[in-house]
Amino acid sequence: MMVGMETVWVLGDQLNRHSGALVGARPSTHRILLVDNLGRLRSRRWHVQRAHLVLTGLRRLATELRAEGFEVDHRVAPSFTQGLADHRTAFAPTRVVAMEPASWDGRELLTTLGVDVIPNDQFLTSTTDLGVWAQPRKQVKLEDFYRWQRRRLGYLMDGDEPVTGRWNYDADNRERPPRDGVNHWPQPVCDELDEVDHEVLSDLERWGVDTWGESPQGWWPTSRERALARLDHFVERLLPQFGPHEDAMLTSSWHLAHSLLSPALNLGMVHPREVCDRVEAAYREGQVPIASAEGFLRQVIGWREYVWGLYWWWGPSYRHENSLEAREPLPPVFTGASPTRMRCVATTMDDVHQRGWVHHIQRLMVLGNLSLLAGVDPWLLTRWMWENFVDGAEWVMLPNVIGMSQHADGGRMATKPYISGGAYIDKMSDYCRGCHYDRTARTGDRACPFTTLYWDFLDRHRGRFESNPRIVTQVRAAQKLTDLDAVRTRAVEVRTALQAGTL
Ligand code: SF4
Repeated sequence: MMVGMETVWVLGDQLNRHSGALVGARPSTHRILLVDNLGRLRSRRWHVQRAHLVLTGLRRLATELRAEGFEVDHRVAPSFTQGLADHRTAFAPTRVVAMEPASWDGRELLTTLGVDVIPNDQFLTSTTDLGVWAQPRKQVKLEDFYRWQRRRLGYLMDGDEPVTGRWNYDADNRERPPRDGVNHWPQPVCDELDEVDHEVLSDLERWGVDTWGESPQGWWPTSRERALARLDHFVERLLPQFGPHEDAMLTSSWHLAHSLLSPALNLGMVHPREVCDRVEAAYREGQVPIASAEGFLRQVIGWREYVWGLYWWWGPSYRHENSLEAREPLPPVFTGASPTRMRCVATTMDDVHQRGWVHHIQRLMVLGNLSLLAGVDPWLLTRWMWENFVDGAEWVMLPNVIGMSQHADGGRMATKPYISGGAYIDKMSDYCRGCHYDRTARTGDRACPFTTLYWDFLDRHRGRFESNPRIVTQVRAAQKLTDLDAVRTRAVEVRTALQAGTL
């Protein structure tokens, strides 16, 4: 055992040699600690691809660091606390240093354990930056934040103005899906599973970790090298097509032109600056239309950083927000315990089962929309998404689910609830054709559950929303329905059937 060395503790979402406390680490002065936390793994039912991704990422990072000459203590422990205690007993490090964890609980734990933390460098916006921006504002609007980011970071800018004179291409990027049935989008990069992948899968079984979903198929990158290959593929082959159909949903393509980079970004394998620099360069070289470049950068420097900042700005009490007093349990269709005749939900859930990933509109307007309309407890949905998506993390899911999707924060994040009936889903997908339900009907046995619940939601929450200018027209329209009593009756049946798993 070498003595007088410091330990760098790398967490499962910090998988990058060029980030955090690893930046200044040298094999001659630093030892590396990695912990597979059995207590955490066994505490919930994870999507198997999510658990596999983190554990495999840690093992590949360990291999990379050992090849560089580091001594790596990669241990299995019942908790982080025990893992660190055992490491200290075995190696007596002069100091343990780690990059700030990306969660409230993680930061508190490392402080309690006497770990020296250095600032988190995985984002373009620090909590201090966010505070400077948010402090003087009454309302923290995404568009304001995004323009502030564009100016501050200089992406797609010509001096202080956007390169084309336009900030926003959302209107160009909401096209309906093509109706020709052709899959227009190249296959994503896929790696063959190797012995490390198989070893992790057998460890998950041996350790008795409760998992759900299809076994990994190689879609998700388990190392920085593999993440960079996907970044190349996205910028060269997909980005030019990214914009127009970014909100579309199709049974024939689970990926369309989405980058699929969120797991790599959220596990720290690639830095958002690397991604945005590539997008900017592709635009400047004339390889990408402005609507696609802007639409993608908006997601990374806008939405992603906004969500990260708000997680810290609003604090851990945000977990308990539930302004609509939604108390229903998670319906069994979310846990794979029951099939459903709702084709949109069945297709989306099948995608989650297959790969632990669906894109933002499937999350917001199918799964989130159904939960909001049916009155599901927002914290239960937050936890479920956190456990079942390969890019899940508390900082991602809290603002996205509590704020954006479930309107549980009373409108601090989104000024109106994101709800729709079957009409929106039909417009943006090919789900409704062939569905058991009729998207235009709001009453009767074949009425689309989204359509029934949409009108019922506007009726049930009219007191809250009749003074909201963004949704008052729909609230008043609900009150004018001649069959409102029948809608209310059918909505009770729908909510009951959803919870019984018979919808
Ligand atoms: Fe979903 Fe309703 Fe369309 Fe069926 S008809 S796919 S339930 S939106």
